[in-house]
Amino acid sequence: MKKLIQIAGLLALAMNAGANDVLIENVRIFNGVDTRLTSGHVLVQDGIIAEVSSEPIEARENTTVLDGGNRVLSPGFIDLHVHLAAHVPGQHFDAYSTLQNVYAAKVAQHYLDSGFTSVRDAGGTHPHFGRAIDSGDIPGPRVFPSGAYISQTAGHGDWRNSTDGNPTLTGGNPYLYDGTSVLVDGVDRHLAAARENLRFGATQIKIMGGGGVMSEFDPIHSLQPSPAEIRAAVQAAGDFGTYVLAHAYTSEAVRRLVENGVRCIEHGLLIDDATAKFVKDNDVVISTQLLVYRELQNLPGVSATNLDKLAVVLEGQENLIRLIKKYDITTGFSTDLISGMYPLLTREFTERAEYWTPAEILVQATSESARVIRMAGKLNRHGNFGEIREGWLADLVLIDGEPLEDISVLTDPDMNLALIMKGGEIVKSRL
Ligand SMILES: [Zn+2]
Repeated sequence: MKKLIQIAGLLALAMNAGANDVLIENVRIFNGVDTRLTSGHVLVQDGIIAEVSSEPIEARENTTVLDGGNRVLSPGFIDLHVHLAAHVPGQHFDAYSTLQNVYAAKVAQHYLDSGFTSVRDAGGTHPHFGRAIDSGDIPGPRVFPSGAYISQTAGHGDWRNSTDGNPTLTGGNPYLYDGTSVLVDGVDRHLAAARENLRFGATQIKIMGGGGVMSEFDPIHSLQPSPAEIRAAVQAAGDFGTYVLAHAYTSEAVRRLVENGVRCIEHGLLIDDATAKFVKDNDVVISTQLLVYRELQNLPGVSATNLDKLAVVLEGQENLIRLIKKYDITTGFSTDLISGMYPLLTREFTERAEYWTPAEILVQATSESARVIRMAGKLNRHGNFGEIREGWLADLVLIDGEPLEDISVLTDPDMNLALIMKGGEIVKSRL
């Protein structure tokens, strides 16, 4: 009987051979690293890139064979600074708590349809949202969540109205706006907040590490939080084998964060030359964004105080890009779009073309961003991606046009992405 079951199993396996396989023939491959295209064919088996070859690959029975038509095949794109749950448009703010996750699902779908197969959520989205995407119930990119932003009182994540009581002083609920942000002061509470995010499934920890634009009570020059509090968050993250990313603009803030173990700086627009060198010497990432700073001034409802702060940080943008290039600092690709700005997503590609070649931008949006995500170590449950490489996850986009000459083809994904595949699943195909 046991033998019979074994034979039946083998038979089922044989009949099923190739059922989940996809062979993409006749493409020019951008592998995520090399800036030269190579002609070839790619076989995907069980969600994994099984073979990449310049010679024709023989398809098994049941394999889906797609003719790539000599288009460019790239790894799926990655955004390192997303806030899926921060896209409720301003006019609906009074209904924030019920709408934020509905909008998050809409944003996730938009990312996937734009060729983005993985994102790092830089705070505000509950890690369980990423789990729902993994289950297949909600379409979207793979999410590497940071959980609730960790902010001190009067920090960039303290969005209370000016007369609201302080929960860290009164023993109230420290979570603001349905758990988007957690207000903590002191070493113990930083430890607890970071550990709570990890418990929910955060793959890295986000702290607010200095003054911000879209918050009313923290001037840009303010330092947040104390060295001991930073070290507490870093300790909690490190004990889970992962790292802390921190929001910061100024040299003083960035230096304090890096000295106390933060591995990734978000924004960084106001740093000077010596701080950029310090960042590079410590092998720290600066994940920065171009488009959002140019567009925030058009967002309705931004206060005069915050518009002034925006003008101050925007002044530093050009200098920061120069320093990133001068010291060859890892930066990846990121957008930080909020408040319903997500349809602008692919314009980040063309904004970057002012400073980088199309090939450099494509490397940023694939292998370089993937390297940053891998800093989460064993908390990355998904495996390797971001390059077209045998044994890595089959996150692929097939592009009409010549993206290595004209990056603007990526701003119209409906028209120019002929195939989108995430982990071997065909999300879209018009082949
Ligand atoms: Zn952000």
